[in-house]
Amino acid sequence: MTIPTKSESHLTNFIRNIIDEDLSQQKWSARQKLVGSSHLIQTRFPPEPNGYLHIGHAKSICLNFGLARDYNGICHLRFDDTNPEKESLEYVESIMDAVHWLGFQWGTHLYYASDYFEKLYQFAEWFIQQGKAYVDSQSADDMRGTRGTLTEAGQDSPYRSRSVEESLRLFREMRAGKHADGAHVLRLKIDMASPNMNLRDPVIYRIRRAHHHRTGDKWCIYPMYDYTHCISDALEHITHSVCTLEFEDHRPLYDWVLNQLADGGFFHRPLPQQIEFARLNLTYVVTSKRKLQQLVQEALVDGWDDPRMPTLVGLRRRGYTPASIQLFCERIGVSKADSWIDYSVLEQALRDDLDPIAPRAVAVLNPLKLIIDNYPAGQSEPCHAPVHPHHPEQGQRTFSFSNTLWIEAEDFCEEPPKGYFRLFPGNKVRLRYGYVIECTGCAKDVHGNIIAVHANYIPDTKSGTPGADSVKVKGNIHWLSAAHALKAKVRLYDRLFLDPQPDSGGKDFKTCLNPDSVKIVQAWLEPTLERSRREERFQFERHGYFVSDRTDSKREALVFNRVATLKDTWK
Ligand code: ATP
Ligand code: MG
Repeated sequence: MTIPTKSESHLTNFIRNIIDEDLSQQKWSARQKLVGSSHLIQTRFPPEPNGYLHIGHAKSICLNFGLARDYNGICHLRFDDTNPEKESLEYVESIMDAVHWLGFQWGTHLYYASDYFEKLYQFAEWFIQQGKAYVDSQSADDMRGTRGTLTEAGQDSPYRSRSVEESLRLFREMRAGKHADGAHVLRLKIDMASPNMNLRDPVIYRIRRAHHHRTGDKWCIYPMYDYTHCISDALEHITHSVCTLEFEDHRPLYDWVLNQLADGGFFHRPLPQQIEFARLNLTYVVTSKRKLQQLVQEALVDGWDDPRMPTLVGLRRRGYTPASIQLFCERIGVSKADSWIDYSVLEQALRDDLDPIAPRAVAVLNPLKLIIDNYPAGQSEPCHAPVHPHHPEQGQRTFSFSNTLWIEAEDFCEEPPKGYFRLFPGNKVRLRYGYVIECTGCAKDVHGNIIAVHANYIPDTKSGTPGADSVKVKGNIHWLSAAHALKAKVRLYDRLFLDPQPDSGGKDFKTCLNPDSVKIVQAWLEPTLERSRREERFQFERHGYFVSDRTDSKREALVFNRVATLKDTWK
């Protein structure tokens, strides 16, 4: 597996331009020295552990870890774990696995927002003491009712003028568990008339008696995302806080909170800079954790790692390589404009990664018997093929020729259409790496189904021998000796959805599931695959790229998944 440690192309994008400019101005140097950091930049990838990571997250991971790699920086892995009801250790572990698998390391820089709960709480008390936060005791409905709209200012809560002492007492009681869930919230006191809704006294704490996977039952109040995120960035000395565009309107709040705390002497300037980029939208998949969870829970797929899922565990099991996903993320680039990326771009990245490195092998996926009538029964001889056509140093594979072979049913046609060069009565083709044969006819069962094809081989035409080219043919087909081939289960995957944008325009994404997204066939494989390892990838000649399933491929039963066809055939 080749994981580029440095990006292949030298990338530029607007975020790199910002960093280049920052570095030329030495924007962060003094602050980094003050906080004792030797890194030129510090980024972070901040997943919420409420599901498995998907291809959209890969874009963010490659971006954040890629920036750190290329600018002598460090990228933190930070779990944004402030919603205990939806989060779990299972998700934490799966996220760590996925980031490592993609090829990135956070070293000692693993953080949890929950580790900051005490600090976040102390800052909240400070905001109250400064007269910049208050406990609001309105019902959620009342709060919604006074929030205003995009065109109308909101109204002050009757509790906005609560004294500092009363708010502080209530907030401490909230922490101590003296109030019911939902009875009070803590809000920042900013501006109920702000044109930016996020600045209309945002709620920063709510009461939730929920067990947290790391802090247990220690807390019954939990901080909100907007409040937690910016403070976590500042505590970790992040320089560039890169996030998706939907947070653009939250940036004034991000800056407001940090500026207050910097004015209070808690943080050094310059403060972390939030920069937004367009999220990845990939056709034929959904990339919302909630929707992916629905697919799993309603058993519409076989789990988070179903090879049809756009989760990183799913893509891994499907056969995608870390390098192909990194390549994909480089190719799609980073911008501020929302767009859709066609699924074929991901498949092409896989092909471009695997073509130069994947060993070749023969597989017959839709077997039909071919009988070589003039080759002695019971006799066999070795044929040779390169492990990789462009890497002779990788040597040869050897498999047997005999009088009974498997070929693809599609490679025979009794009454061929124009331009069909494969087997039909009277035609000659080359058996790849073997002999030229001439088709003599076929045998049928009582229903008229073709059960075997007959042919004669032409001695002296074996590939790699001096007479190989003595008979010219237009067709070249693959085959396996029936007595030697390995039986295997091969899963031919197709797109999970039929609609390129399954969840756009208020559609129910479950109505456009592709009923034929997987086809399982009993196939025959080249005997050399007996030694294949789980998760080993091959190019099955003429068919595409396949991987030995990392879960199901056991010694007794070979199971291969099709990652992608050789060419883009989707219509
Ligand atoms: P979902 O909406 O599916 O739950 P999320 O954005 O809430 O996803 P997080 O765990 O918060 O999930 O995401 C971690 C990081 O990954 C965030 O910085 C987020 O912006 C980024 N991210 C999530 N989805 C995408 C995407 N489709 N393209 C690029 N980055 C993404
Ligand atoms: Mg999120």
